[in-house]
Amino acid sequence: MSDKRRTLLAFHAHPDDESSKGSGTMARYADEGVRVVLVCATGGEEGEILNPRMDRPGIKDRMPEIRAAELETACDLLGVERIYHLGYRDSGMPKTPSNDHPNSFWNADPEEAVGKIVEIIRAERPEVILSYDESKGYEHPDHIRVHEWGARAFREAGDGERFPDAGAPWQPSKLYYFATFTKARFTMLHEAAAAEGIESPFAGWLDQWDQMGFEDPKVTAQIDVADYVELRSKALLAHATQIDPDSFWFAIPDDIQKKVYPWEDYTLIESTVPTEEPEDDLFAGI
Ligand SMILES: [Zn+2]
Repeated sequence: MSDKRRTLLAFHAHPDDESSKGSGTMARYADEGVRVVLVCATGGEEGEILNPRMDRPGIKDRMPEIRAAELETACDLLGVERIYHLGYRDSGMPKTPSNDHPNSFWNADPEEAVGKIVEIIRAERPEVILSYDESKGYEHPDHIRVHEWGARAFREAGDGERFPDAGAPWQPSKLYYFATFTKARFTMLHEAAAAEGIESPFAGWLDQWDQMGFEDPKVTAQIDVADYVELRSKALLAHATQIDPDSFWFAIPDDIQKKVYPWEDYTLIESTVPTEEPEDDLFAGI
């Protein structure tokens, strides 16, 4: 064991993704002394104002600036030590004109984009990388790119023949995908809410779940984030333009989430160290 601090790198598409997927995990590892860094691919320029309280003159024109500030506030709460912006433009929803913008992440040159991520991995030397799965059922172009290029960067960062000018090779030990959207989790939260007489926001989703084409990811690791559930809500609320406090995000109170589903879920995709599933620590085996 070297005295290098352990490092966790989370790769996300837009400001606010870091607070809706795996934020409790980042906060917990940060608390345990792990260096937590975030790579955010785009500025979220295409984000609508989704919180009526923020629908005021002057906000929409300054969206990238405001979303960067929201991201910083959320990351301060979660204990993220450094935010890397890849600097691409938000591609917007599937098959919208913004996809064709020359600086959109969707349109980026793969070599350039993977090279940028590789350079960050080699500079930060994370043992663990968190990224996205194939995004079946959601299919946001930027999320698909995070999936493709995140996995490539994981594999190529350790290969000295690839991107020789991007720093000394570093092979991260484990690659996980967020496994946040599972029918099992939503069913448990839905039933717990119903039992408490709370109107569950998930009834409609669950009714249509099988037709929507969401493929449940395989959960191989569950991180207990019970102590970080409130912080997670605060981080999400920091994205004031994007997150309506009266929306489904907060329909199930923190204390029910804590009691019924205190975990954040992951799928282990690649590992250079021996592992045993199920895991309850992303650094297990390292
Ligand atoms: Zn996103």
